[in-house]
Amino acid sequence: MKICNSIEEMRGACRALRHEGKRIGFVPTMGALHEGHRSLVRAAGDSCDAVAASIFVNPLQFGPKEDLGKYPRSFDRDCALLEEEGVEFLFAPTVEDMYPAGSATWVTVEGMSDKLDGRSRPGHFRGVTTVVAKLFHVVEPDAAFFGQKDAAQLAIIRRMVRDLNFPVEIVACPIVREADGLAMSSRNAYLDTAQRKQAIVLYRSLLRVKKLWEGGERRAEELIGVGKAEIAQEKSVRLDYFEIVDPENLDPVSNVRDGGLVAVAAFVGATRLIDNLVLKEAVALA
Ligand code: AMP
Repeated sequence: MKICNSIEEMRGACRALRHEGKRIGFVPTMGALHEGHRSLVRAAGDSCDAVAASIFVNPLQFGPKEDLGKYPRSFDRDCALLEEEGVEFLFAPTVEDMYPAGSATWVTVEGMSDKLDGRSRPGHFRGVTTVVAKLFHVVEPDAAFFGQKDAAQLAIIRRMVRDLNFPVEIVACPIVREADGLAMSSRNAYLDTAQRKQAIVLYRSLLRVKKLWEGGERRAEELIGVGKAEIAQEKSVRLDYFEIVDPENLDPVSNVRDGGLVAVAAFVGATRLIDNLVLKEAVALA
């Protein structure tokens, strides 16, 4: 695996691949890689000729009181994982290279960037869309792979790609979970033993809603009420939001149909975790 630290180097390496006629799959990450990231790299490898990844802890998507300074970093271990999975090029730029002094341009998806996590984390999504747009310009991938874990991010990136005509296919990959259901996240590393147990309540709340919906309940208010009540069972977990939205535009729905996105965010101690689930009608077997 070749590690490219500069934009020029990465762009050159990816262009050379493309000139060989190779379809490039791209997996952007902030490092501290886990099995969720690995699944994206595998999906990229399955449908593309070459995989490029990036590790960049993007300061633009962190609020002033958030965890930028202590975000987990494990570059050598991350490289080993990516190499093991056959990644050809890793882009690991410096902050100065990505945002030279005087950078003044933002990419914002209006009307979506202030929904869900965007409401609790003002400016977060414009940081995400700005960096992803820049990464797409550097790598020029044919396809880019994102986790359903960050469902709002996925919807916003899809909209950006559509609105700005990026020639890239966005591929969503399923949430990878720990054995007990906790969605894998680099931030799980912040949890102590007691918090790690409490954190399962996020997934449990989603399952409660799913069960009720599968039993025929379609009123969002009722479904959300049950999800919130489950979170409230875990006294030391503080709910940020519990919503059911249209996965395309992130608008809340009142009557929950097939494909509705149930999304939750909560603080376990000081750690903010997110999880979600898409409600799906069972397919009748013939
Ligand atoms: P991050 O490094 O947290 O910015 O995440 C990089 C990519 O990995 C994003 O597309 C995430 O949605 C995805 N990702 C993170 N956690 C998971 C998970 N548990 N399952 C699937 N994808 C994930």
